[in-house]
Amino acid sequence: METVKLICIGCPMGCDLTVELEGGVPVSVTGNTCPIGKKYAEEEVTAPKRTVTSTALSEDGVPVPVKTAGTVPKKAIFDVVGDIKAARPSLPVKIGDVIVPDAANTGVPVVATKDVSR
Ligand code: SF4
Repeated sequence: METVKLICIGCPMGCDLTVELEGGVPVSVTGNTCPIGKKYAEEEVTAPKRTVTSTALSEDGVPVPVKTAGTVPKKAIFDVVGDIKAARPSLPVKIGDVIVPDAANTGVPVVATKDVSR
């Protein structure tokens, strides 16, 4: 039996979570105040995911703040950032515009988080 301690990032309460694993499979989660914490803990010890925030440069070199529209596997973060760095969106960009349609083949798009014009 393996024990993993985590802090839930689902809300500002930051519940202290304890996950018990058998053979790498979570068998119990305690310390969570709501179901979000249980889901987070089970995912974090098996297939952790993150939202990625970064900055793309427009074709004119103007910074465009962006983020993934959902979570992506943690192991794909460097590839997602690589796709963001390779993108060269044309201005103007509106908040929510898709900058990378399928970041690192995760199926998750990268979108602008701010209106940006020349
Ligand atoms: S378990 Fe629920 S209440 Fe606790 S930090 Fe996570 S989301 Fe918030």
